Amino acid sequence: MWNLYANQERWLSEMATVVFFHAHPDDEALSTGGTMALMAEAGHRVILVVATRGEEGEPVEGILKDGEKLEDRRSLETEQSGKILGVSRVEFLGYRDSGMIDSSTTAHPECFWQADESAAVSRLTNILKDEKVDLIVVYDPNGGYGHPDHIQVHRVGTKWAEENGVRLRWVTLNRDAIRRVVEEAIKANIEAGQELDSDLAKREERSSDESFGMAESDITHAIDVVSVLDQKRQAVATHASQIASDSFFVTLGNEEYSRAFGKEWYVDPNFPRGTEELLRTDLLLN
Ligand SMILES: [Zn+2]
Repeated sequence: MWNLYANQERWLSEMATVVFFHAHPDDEALSTGGTMALMAEAGHRVILVVATRGEEGEPVEGILKDGEKLEDRRSLETEQSGKILGVSRVEFLGYRDSGMIDSSTTAHPECFWQADESAAVSRLTNILKDEKVDLIVVYDPNGGYGHPDHIQVHRVGTKWAEENGVRLRWVTLNRDAIRRVVEEAIKANIEAGQELDSDLAKREERSSDESFGMAESDITHAIDVVSVLDQKRQAVATHASQIASDSFFVTLGNEEYSRAFGKEWYVDPNFPRGTEELLRTDLLLN
């Protein structure tokens, strides 16, 4: 551990290659878009690998042209989002979207949930064979909120990292921060004498669920992405087949947006944060 700390300065002064491994098109923008933009801006090589093309997504009504397949549209959106975020390479692992846990699509033989773990690891190895990867980002063990493809990204990415001796980060949702934002919104709702928004009530319930994201005390890194928020928002909006132009992700005022999405949260599973230690502000820092 101390050796790694001693090497920190050298490590930080060099350009790193960082892989962001995601489950579906739009996950990259929504959950790690700011960090990707910041790292690319700092000169690091940022690679995006997406496990599926999001076949099971619900397209915004009327958005697809006649005969256009959702997965083709979503692939284009991902390429575009990658450009906005400064990504050097966008790759797809080639599995099918598994859909939600209780749907029959999770039994599809080509879906990511059904994938043989070592076969999936081999595909990733093959994509990254000419790269000198320093760090790979996957989801936390529950995939943030329990989606089978997100859980599978965690498993496959972790195994790949172990086999290749590459450092690992989990992107997660900060359950406590979300609860604070929701509580504030509910308070504002009540103060304004309005009836409680059912969406807010749902969010409040979700943010108190122990399987949703992680507790702030378990999080090691908080990346402030406010300086690249425009890029993040543009990348999110690029996924127009999923995120309607009147969705709050697109319409929220900049101030509210930066309060809700101005930080991206990560865990270094190998270097937990001490009780007195502050959250680390650079993803490359151990
Ligand atoms: Zn997803």
